[in-house]
Amino acid sequence: MSTKYIQLSHGGGGLEMNKLIRGLFFEAFDNAILRSEEDAALLNLTGQTAFTTDSFTVSPLFFAGGDIGKLAIAGTVNDLAMVGAEPQYLSLGVIIEEGFPFDSLKTIVQSMATELKKSGAKIVCGDTKVVPKGCADGLFLNTTGVGRVIRPGISAKALQPGDAILVSRDIGRHGAAILMAREGLELESGLQSDCATLWGTVEQLLIHPFEIRAMRDATRGGLSAVLNEWAVASNVNIQVNEGDVPVADEVRGLCELYGFEPMDLANEGTFVVALPKSQADGALEVLKRFGHCEHAAIIGEVCEAPQGKVILNTPWGSRRYLDLPAGELLPRIC
Ligand code: MG
Repeated sequence: MSTKYIQLSHGGGGLEMNKLIRGLFFEAFDNAILRSEEDAALLNLTGQTAFTTDSFTVSPLFFAGGDIGKLAIAGTVNDLAMVGAEPQYLSLGVIIEEGFPFDSLKTIVQSMATELKKSGAKIVCGDTKVVPKGCADGLFLNTTGVGRVIRPGISAKALQPGDAILVSRDIGRHGAAILMAREGLELESGLQSDCATLWGTVEQLLIHPFEIRAMRDATRGGLSAVLNEWAVASNVNIQVNEGDVPVADEVRGLCELYGFEPMDLANEGTFVVALPKSQADGALEVLKRFGHCEHAAIIGEVCEAPQGKVILNTPWGSRRYLDLPAGELLPRIC
């Protein structure tokens, strides 16, 4: 039997599956809970626990700055971090199309193991299924995660007039990187996805006594979606100064070429924070000093008028509503 490609037997529950699970997944994600091989992982959780799940169908599986494995770990870890929770335990569901190259699977699993180290989260249970050729597009992943809430009360409903809005870095890179990969574009600049684990940065923010009202990673729907969701959830208006929103030249260029709005493009390692204006400079300094946040910026503020709207102040002095992105801009970006 060829071991260069995944066969249906690798998901059959027998010898081949056992070899795949032990030789690949156990090796990469090694920990005592995973190795215990009970029907379910046994966890001792204390206090308030955050719980989240996400499925990953990104196409292509490999892109500049990451791959589906890195994305599947960072995505779930980041959702835990955004509610002030320290990522602890993850599950991993793997759906593989028959004929998928074993080497690619190995690379993706290694990439997951590397990304897990950045937060200290562990994969403690999992499932592997192989479907016949044509029944899936290469590889789909699902990760579910739990984390201990370190800072309770961080919520999309908690924004107050007078709060400042910060973004952790320049926006739109993930969407732009996927678009570039799909279109077969090669940019000399080497535009990369922002795909990254945010826990380290969030942990730094939580160490300081900032009164963080809300945090959200600007994934599907980009910055536009986060701000609109917050404005509605907290029943406030949010004003954003377009000129203060960091956008890399390569992302801006691609957007002009394809008619996209950088604020609508997905990010996978960029988050938005709301906190009292008096603490904004302090939080900005912490963001800049740690991780990938050298382009972190204060981009706007929460205002009185309770309409649930986002108002964009353009660099030309005009004002317009920033709406939720409509339609499917780029399918299968995560
Ligand atoms: Mg999220």
